[in-house]
Amino acid sequence: MPIATVNPADGETLKTYDGLSAEEIERRIAKAAEAFDRYRTTSFADRARLLHRAADLLEEDQQDIARTMTTEMGKPITQARAEAAKCVKAMRWYADHAEGLLADEHPAGTDVKDSGAVRARVRYRPLGVILAVMPWNFPLWQVIRFAAPALMAGNAGLLKHASNVPGTALYLEDLFRRAGYPEGCFQTLLIGSGAVEGILRDPRVAAATLTGSEPAGRSVASIAGDEVKKTVLELGGSDPFVVMPSADIEEAAKTAVRARAQNTGQSCIAAKRFIVHADVYDAFAGRFAAGMRALKVGDPLDESTEVGPLSSEQGRKDLEELVDDAVRRGATLLCGGHRPEGLAERGWYYSPTVIADITPGMRIHREETFGPVAALYRVPDLEAAVELANDTPFGLSSNLWTRDDAEVDRFVRDIEAGGVYVNGMTASHPAFPFGGVKRSGYGRELSGHGIREFCNITTVWQG
Ligand code: NAP
Repeated sequence: MPIATVNPADGETLKTYDGLSAEEIERRIAKAAEAFDRYRTTSFADRARLLHRAADLLEEDQQDIARTMTTEMGKPITQARAEAAKCVKAMRWYADHAEGLLADEHPAGTDVKDSGAVRARVRYRPLGVILAVMPWNFPLWQVIRFAAPALMAGNAGLLKHASNVPGTALYLEDLFRRAGYPEGCFQTLLIGSGAVEGILRDPRVAAATLTGSEPAGRSVASIAGDEVKKTVLELGGSDPFVVMPSADIEEAAKTAVRARAQNTGQSCIAAKRFIVHADVYDAFAGRFAAGMRALKVGDPLDESTEVGPLSSEQGRKDLEELVDDAVRRGATLLCGGHRPEGLAERGWYYSPTVIADITPGMRIHREETFGPVAALYRVPDLEAAVELANDTPFGLSSNLWTRDDAEVDRFVRDIEAGGVYVNGMTASHPAFPFGGVKRSGYGRELSGHGIREFCNITTVWQG
């Protein structure tokens, strides 16, 4: 894949970049290792000052970087600005909380005595240079979600960003440089995915985190496994959105539209499968399809646009194939299922789509739909809903709409996912852990769990 900025709204190639040479990659890894050696001993107060400064700069840059993201991957401009604001918030949160999250732990006095120690404690020390392989869908947020905690823990970062967002990738390196981070603490490597293996095998690189597709995750994890290096994987999702009869159907349908169409449907935690109790199926389906049909599809730089183009021509083709396969096998389109007239000639647009009567033989039943396409199911009870919700290789997050606490307990007990959001849509927050099970990956980002992933958890025993 060439490293280039290609505008998804019109297919125009705006800028191409040469990938780094082997010598330049070597020089940058060396710089990262040197930077880590100095940076790891800095105080939390110093690190917090730097991260606050970076957050302030990003806040000032919000308009420009939002435009860069929209031009590179097509997200509606209002959502691009919101993404930048979310990054600022997470940076400030980690700047303010990291010291507490990584404070020494003191085992119980009786356990200390039992171990024969006079004193014992657990210290969270930084791990080293961490390689981050990141996707294009939230080109700023995915990186900040890694970088803010990693840098606060005292690590150094090397970013291999997706090849279609080089402008955002270079902006991030520049942001940390302008904030005053020591040279080499955070670097962007403009490289193709073929160069990842060599970097991962380099002894100066301690660990890796990857957010992206399952094949990419499998490749990085197997190389890291071969090198006995830690990885965190945030992969795909096909989150269920379960609606029970006691739910506020109006609110559920409204939220369902946002949960499915956010980021033009290209979000790992977007609700993708809508599993609705038969008693409220018709009421929900009608409102949901009407809401999806009413979304304003258009130029992502237009302030009123709600759904932009997909990020690539291939992305649209993949999505179309899933819908066409389902329709061929008997599924019913409630809306969409085609390219929007007047726009599709220019860019990689696809109309918001709701598709019902899905059967297990259809590809859409098992595969992730990375675009504004919702699969709708009817179930007789909660048991069937949970069974269907779990009938997927993925296990990222989940949504349940009900006013019945017993149903909530049952759902939390049985759902195979890393998150349960009740009467709302999945949305990450710096204070809550984020990640999945099954083919959605392992490890957690955000919160105290996230910052400790790339720490050397050290037992200090004193006799
Ligand atoms: P992708 O093709 O896997 O790309 C993600 C990153 O991995 C890019 O930097 C890509 O580089 C790199 N990459 C691809 N193949 C690789 C390989 N064999 N070895 C090393 N690096 C490799 O995924 P995407 O299409 O950009 O993103 C969509 C997927 O990401 C969806 O499945 C989505 O659900 C998932 N996602 C998950 C989360 C989460 O938090 N769980 C968040 C966002 C997205 P190139 O661009 O150079 O190919």
